Amino acid sequence: MSLTLLWLLLPIAAVSGWYIARLEYKKNSKKTLVNLPQDYFKGLNYILNEQPDKAIDIFMKLSELDESTFEIHLALGGLFRRRGEVDRAIRLHQGLINKPSLSTELHTQALQELAFDYIGAGLLDRAEDLCLELIDVDANNLVALNLLRDIYEQEKEWFRAIDLARKIAVCKNKSQSLIIAHYYCEIALQALSKNDLAQTNRMLSKALQEQHNCGRAIMLRAQLEQQSGDYNSAIKSYKWLETKAPECLSEILDELKKCYQAIGQKEKMVAYLKHLIHDHHGIELVLTTARMLKEDEGDDAALAFLSDEVSARPSLRGVQYLLELHLAKINDENGHLAVIKSSLDMLLKNKPVYHCSCCGFTGVDMHWCCPGCKTWSSIKPINEFQWGASI
Ligand SMILES: [Zn+2]
Repeated sequence: MSLTLLWLLLPIAAVSGWYIARLEYKKNSKKTLVNLPQDYFKGLNYILNEQPDKAIDIFMKLSELDESTFEIHLALGGLFRRRGEVDRAIRLHQGLINKPSLSTELHTQALQELAFDYIGAGLLDRAEDLCLELIDVDANNLVALNLLRDIYEQEKEWFRAIDLARKIAVCKNKSQSLIIAHYYCEIALQALSKNDLAQTNRMLSKALQEQHNCGRAIMLRAQLEQQSGDYNSAIKSYKWLETKAPECLSEILDELKKCYQAIGQKEKMVAYLKHLIHDHHGIELVLTTARMLKEDEGDDAALAFLSDEVSARPSLRGVQYLLELHLAKINDENGHLAVIKSSLDMLLKNKPVYHCSCCGFTGVDMHWCCPGCKTWSSIKPINEFQWGASI
């Protein structure tokens, strides 16, 4: 049996199993037993024989359509879409929509599936029209509202996405302020790219009104202050992250260092970092402190500090830098320690630094919206101490 055939059989078996269970349920409930039209089995046979277009022809010609057979259509359409055969999914779902016997509820479901197909095919305009049509009929259609918001995200129509998010918040009775704050940040970045600083600041204020602890907005505001040469304000803004969004602290350490350097108070940064380490224990905090101690006070001060930290909270990246400092001091490039160091470098190379708490996506770059599951603010730095211990 080919892998392709096996791949086809699994969902068909699932659909058939579900259908038989459903019939049994109906039988036991003394409801009307539904007989599948003979043509359905012909259609399924075509699917199994890898002739999906013939199967679609048969399904589209079927005049009888009840809730059970409708769901088989939907399952097959979804299967085509997931396999990337979007044209076939569109054909199947368009055939469903044209069935005159379809109830309003089932017609809506078929339209929603077709909207998913259009998005899968990159036909965003058509998907948008379909969603607007669905929302016209039912302003509380959450599937259509969410789909339309996804479309506006892809098209970077952030003001429209904000309107949709507010409607979704009402429908779900659940705040969407975190997402809306990100949309305002996106608008701020668009304004910044046009050098429109007034609009950039307005949008960042709106983001913070929406979500007072939006780390992204705080960081962007601090960067603007830094770029304008207002280093004291930038330092103050960066420090807000400590209480508002401590998970963002590791992202701003280099910029914070530049601000302290610009006002000639680098030693205050080291003191501040030690305070942060005490409360937040991030490995980036530890490594930045060690690097700054090396720059300002020399290798011995950095080694002493890092030895204490690695002893208290072991981490592979901590050990890696400790070895680097030690090797530089003893000048033993070809000894055993050098072998350990180069092995550790290879083990840690390209190890993920960020992790999505929703879908498990990992990567080496920070994303405000997860590339895997499209959730906003779900990606956080991996806790190095736990990560190190797990290897
Ligand atoms: Zn994710």
